Amino acid sequence: MKPQNETVITLQSRSCNESYARSAVACFFAQLDPTVEELCDIRTAVSEAVTNAIVHGYREQMGVIRITARIYPERRITIAVQDRGCGIPDIQKAMEPLFTTSLDGERSGLGFSVMQSFMDRVRVRSAPGKGTTVTLERTLRGKDAHD
Ligand code: ATP
Ligand code: MG
Repeated sequence: MKPQNETVITLQSRSCNESYARSAVACFFAQLDPTVEELCDIRTAVSEAVTNAIVHGYREQMGVIRITARIYPERRITIAVQDRGCGIPDIQKAMEPLFTTSLDGERSGLGFSVMQSFMDRVRVRSAPGKGTTVTLERTLRGKDAHD
């Protein structure tokens, strides 16, 4: 299905760009008049995906992260976070809660679980040596929705 609107943001893999990335994506979706909670969820999920691209995808190297945010009919949104870093050898394993390849003890292996709990769907495409694309999907209810 063709998106109704789309934006592409590219940034260098510096951790200081992480807050810019999540705010830029949230700003783009503001046109859908989402709830504060929905915006928080999007920011958190984008943050996890961008952090992964920086710390795992590119590690110490500098690279480009490309974020494509799209709006589809009926308030469905997607956010693709792409890096051209090291890639993930076993995607299923990487997505298991508490799985991490980080050795410094600073990571808890919960980034994918967080993305999954805040979004409707998380898709991962990756090839070792070529990079990773994480696509986050959600349908927004919006301000006027009632329980
Ligand atoms: P946390 O997110 O809790 O700080 P984490 O980043 O290790 O810890 P996840 O975000 O769930 O946990 O990711 C799990 C594992 O998947 C990572 O440890 C890493 O091995 C791999 N991974 C995730 N994203 C990428 C990526 N963009 N490129 C390469 N490997 C990745
Ligand atoms: Mg992570």
